[in-house]
Order: sequence, then structure tokens, then C-alpha cells
Amino acid sequence: MTPGESDRSDRLDAGWCDDPLLDVADLVAGYGATEVLRGVSLCVGEGEVVSLVGRNGAGKTTTLRAIVGNVAPDAGRVAFRGEDVTRLSTEETVRRNVAFVPEERRIFPGLTVAENLRIGRLGGSDTARSRDPQDVLAEFENLREHPDRLGSALSGGEQQMLAIARALVAGADLLLLDEPTEGLAPFVVRRVEDLVRNLNDEGISVLLVEQNVQVALELADRHYVLDRGEIVYHGTSDELRENDEVMDRHLGVTT
Ligand code: ATP
Repeated sequence: MTPGESDRSDRLDAGWCDDPLLDVADLVAGYGATEVLRGVSLCVGEGEVVSLVGRNGAGKTTTLRAIVGNVAPDAGRVAFRGEDVTRLSTEETVRRNVAFVPEERRIFPGLTVAENLRIGRLGGSDTARSRDPQDVLAEFENLREHPDRLGSALSGGEQQMLAIARALVAGADLLLLDEPTEGLAPFVVRRVEDLVRNLNDEGISVLLVEQNVQVALELADRHYVLDRGEIVYHGTSDELRENDEVMDRHLGVTT
């Protein structure tokens, strides 16, 4: 038995991810000598919204970065649609329609909204999911009215929308979102939530990293709780909501 096989059967016993879109098994990764992920296993099924929650520094961003090949795993396996993508570069992973929207959004301040979107085309996939920037723009109310506005003139919420729109242009079957609501005003958070719901309705699966547990509970069907590089809990929204110990001890939410 390979390490973590028991982990895997636990998940399958729970009836999740019999045929996962994303399957992460026993991922070990870090930066130089610093080990951050200590055997992370999770899965996202077709059409699911799944959250990865945890305190600051738990390793959430590192997990996403390892999934997209931005951090080279020391051990473990990442599979997308059954294909082993563990050792692929970020570009190669993105071509398989795995879209990553990093926390820092990476909007080009000197380029317009339309130009930022066209950049999504570069390096993206050519498959059915890859979309015309104009069509994507049409779906984003705030952005479509200002295609010539510079990235530097956008609000935090507009930048987040643009980062997600750009990921859609590149093509997304699976969207990896790193703290999309961070720093946004509550009414903008609602808009981001609506957007994620709409995208999911269109058939895009989502792995959502969130510090804001309420947003995660609102949006996701299932949740993985990460603490110091290990998954310490997984469950549905109802189960997590009612688990005072996990909410308090691992997420710092007093219930
Ligand atoms: P946050 O919510 O603060 O972003 P996180 O759960 O996403 O937290 P990570 O960003 O994955 O956590 O960081 C996990 C650990 O890895 C932290 O201790 C962090 O300091 C460390 N770390 C992150 N990036 C690097 C890096 N490039 N080099 C060295 N250490 C890093």
C-alpha cells in the first residue's frame, strides 16, 4: 500500500469523488527546507464547489500553487480528469482548463480592461471552454461598461472580477480561486458570490480558498479544513456549521 492509501479510501467511503475532476493525494510540498504541506489529500467532483479553509499560514495558497505546478511537490500526486499532472508546468496545467486566480490578482495596471482580458488568451487552451474576450466581457456588468478603463483605475472588486473573467477567457473547467473576497466591501463580496454561483451553474467546478468561513459556507458544498499543512477535517456545510470544535479550534470562529 502506498502512503495515504487509507486516506483515499476514507474519502471514497464517504461517497465523494468516485470519479473526481481533481484528485490530490498525499501532497507534500514547501519552500526549500521548509515543509508546508504534510500529506494533503482532497478531491473536487465534476460540478462541485469545494472550499479549502484554514487559518493564516496553514498552507492554502501553497496547495493551490502545488496543484497548478507553481510549487514543485516533494511527494504525492495531482490528477486532473484522471491524468497525472503532478509534474506539469503551470502553462501545461492551464492548457488542460485548470484556471488559477491568485490572491494578488495580477491585473496589469497599465493595460485596459479589454487588453487585460486578451492576455487571458495567451497560453490558454484552445478547447471548447476557451472563450472570446468580448463574450466574457458581456457577462460582467461593471466591466463591460468600461472596456477602456486602465487596470490601475479599477476598484478591488472590479480587479477581482477582471481576474476571474481573464481566467474564463483562457478556458476553465476547474477554477481555483485564492481568497477572492479578501479586502472587499460586503456588498462587493455578495457580487463575487453571485458570480461564482453563476459560473458553477454554467458547469465550472470550483476549488475555493477562503479565510472568510461564512463565504465558504455560503458557496461550497463541501469543505476541507487545513491546519499546519494537514487536512484535519472534511465535511458538508451543515456538518461544518454544527461542529463548534472545528470552527473554534481550527478556524477561529466562535459559535
Ligand atoms: P494566508 O491566508 O496567510 O495566505 P495560507 O494558508 O494561504 O495563508 P500559505 O501562503 O500557503 O498559507 O503559506 C504557508 C506557509 O508557507 C507560511 O508559513 C508562509 O510563511 C510560508 N511561505 C509561503 N510562501 C513562501 C515562499 N515563497 N517562501 C518561503 N515560505 C513561504
